[in-house]
Amino acid sequence: FFAKLNREGSVLYDPSREENRLNQFTLLGDLREALQENHLVVYYQPKINVATGQVNAAEALVRWQHPNRGWISPGLFIPFAEKTGKLRGITEWVLHEVLRQQVAWQQTGLRLLISVNVGVSDVEDVQFVDFVEAQLLKAGDAANLCLEITETGVMHKPDVMLQNLARLRCLGVRLSIDDFGTGYSSFAYLAKMPVNELKIDQVFVMSMNSTFESVSIVRSMIEIGHILGLKVVAEGVETIAIWQALAVMGCDEVQGYLIAEPMSSAALVAWLDKASHLPAELTPPSMSNF
Ligand code: C2E
Ligand code: MG
Ligand code: MG
Ligand code: MG
Repeated sequence: FFAKLNREGSVLYDPSREENRLNQFTLLGDLREALQENHLVVYYQPKINVATGQVNAAEALVRWQHPNRGWISPGLFIPFAEKTGKLRGITEWVLHEVLRQQVAWQQTGLRLLISVNVGVSDVEDVQFVDFVEAQLLKAGDAANLCLEITETGVMHKPDVMLQNLARLRCLGVRLSIDDFGTGYSSFAYLAKMPVNELKIDQVFVMSMNSTFESVSIVRSMIEIGHILGLKVVAEGVETIAIWQALAVMGCDEVQGYLIAEPMSSAALVAWLDKASHLPAELTPPSMSNF
């Protein structure tokens, strides 16, 4: 169940196993404890600007350090929390932690735009919007916060969603459509959405080196995003060849193992200190090599 660690420090999970379903009963109690005892940790994965090579944004990705089961992947416990109506506690905890971290960073002169993933059940609820507003009033800069909502989520209750998203935009929070291409938004609806960014799902990005169709699909998604005036981000970029193809297509930002894996806030600060954030293959040889 809580099997081998994968390279991001999360576990590989097979939801089809009977054993897993049984374990979910205890998981619910454990989740409550995790929130009370601070067993959750926020990791950050940098987003790099393709044109400039600069990094001034990152995505917050939650991790669960279970006292006896080790690291549990959000791919496991987020859908579970969402199904059992327990996502809000996690979302609020992550948001609070990110705003706290940003204040701490700003005291050292570091300003980073951080994206926080939110669930449909969060954005559909006007009380969640109130919560975001209250947190920002207490401590936080709305201009440094982005909320990522999956494309499927965005289409769930379009009217309420549009209203709440508009309110979040009025607060100055940036909005992003996550996992774009895997949902079913109509272009008419997409054009009405008060969002700033579109994140191409990693399924399309990863298959760019194996099928011509994926390359064309990604190119079209970048075009659609730009036509709608949105910033386009590609996630799951693992190879130089894909980076280069995305750069030619005018993709704005890239996120993926090629640049960096999600890491602790301390590791991120150390990583940001590096002279170049581009992969070695793309960095021109320095003069000292001659
Ligand atoms: P997502 O928001 O689409 O995040 C991208 C996922 O892809 C992350 O997995 C990230 O670690 C992984 N990833 C990034 N670059 C690469 C790459 O180059 N190759 C591969 N193979 N994977 C890459 P992670 O951290 O396990 O999170 C999985 C999902 O769990 C997220 O997908 C998001 O939907 C959800 N999630 C994570 N943290 C939170 C959170 O705080 N709140 C909510 N509601 N959902 C979260
Ligand atoms: Mg995301
Ligand atoms: Mg995504
Ligand atoms: Mg995803």
